[in-house]
Amino acid sequence: MGKQLAVVGIDIGGTNTVFGLVDREGNVLGEGNISTTHYIEPEVYVAALYEKIMVIKDKQCPDVEILGFGIGAPMGNINKGTIEYPADLPWKGIIPLADLFYRHTSLPVVVTNDANAAAVGEMIYGGAKGMKNFVVITLGTGLGSGFVIDGKLVYGHDGFAGEIGHTVIRPGDSNRDCGCGRKGCLETYVSASGIKRTMLKILADKLEPSELRKCSFEELDSKKIYDAALKGDKLALRAFEHTGAMLGFKLADVVAHTNPEAIFLFGGLALAKELIFEPAREHMEKNLLYIYQGKVKLLPSELSAQNAAVLGASSLIWSNREI
Ligand SMILES: [Zn+2]
Repeated sequence: MGKQLAVVGIDIGGTNTVFGLVDREGNVLGEGNISTTHYIEPEVYVAALYEKIMVIKDKQCPDVEILGFGIGAPMGNINKGTIEYPADLPWKGIIPLADLFYRHTSLPVVVTNDANAAAVGEMIYGGAKGMKNFVVITLGTGLGSGFVIDGKLVYGHDGFAGEIGHTVIRPGDSNRDCGCGRKGCLETYVSASGIKRTMLKILADKLEPSELRKCSFEELDSKKIYDAALKGDKLALRAFEHTGAMLGFKLADVVAHTNPEAIFLFGGLALAKELIFEPAREHMEKNLLYIYQGKVKLLPSELSAQNAAVLGASSLIWSNREI
């Protein structure tokens, strides 16, 4: 019997970086985090992160043998092992993340964007086990997507396939500004920040009472909208209906592109369950070409919310070993 094997899954977020040592079954054997914003220089950040991982390993699971490092990050590029022009991280330009890791280790390092990591995680540990064609949509501050076609995650020519959050769903100059510099992108409607914008518009347009009228702009967030909707607040329910409808409308296109067996929704907004699933399902079906109707499952992610990003990132290494 050799040592117990594990992969380090790393989720680089705008505020914090979370990591875990994960075994083949998805058990987290050790875990920790460091601040992302604290480090102005990426090389200092990677050195501190690597050191912290080794400290946690020695403390929490000293007998484990590490096989590699899987990293999910905004604008992560699998072909080059880089992060490219991330909007929400403290570093600018192109950061050679994998190369910075190779200063400390000779083990494999795989970098990709967080939605792709979630899709591989779903395939290895979650509800997509055994599926060859599926899509994962991540609903966080923005909207990400990962496509698996014929059993393979699609990276595309440059490693950036699947940015459906930045497909324009409402063209025209009068539509919502997006962080990418364009207008009317899907994620300006379908995301935690998108539903907030929708809620504010509904509150401005309608005179009906709503408990959300007393929230300040800063206070209002998707959680408050969710809580109000659960209590039957009509305008909050309308915000969910509108958000789910826009998602469903877009998913009908997604189905035509890739003919998936299932589409998984992952992240904050997906936790609102039927409030988002019901209108999304209804509007997807309504807009589907007849050959797809009634065939595509719209499902919640089966990755546990707490460790999903870390599991997804770790699965980048596990999947490479097995496919
Ligand atoms: Zn955009």
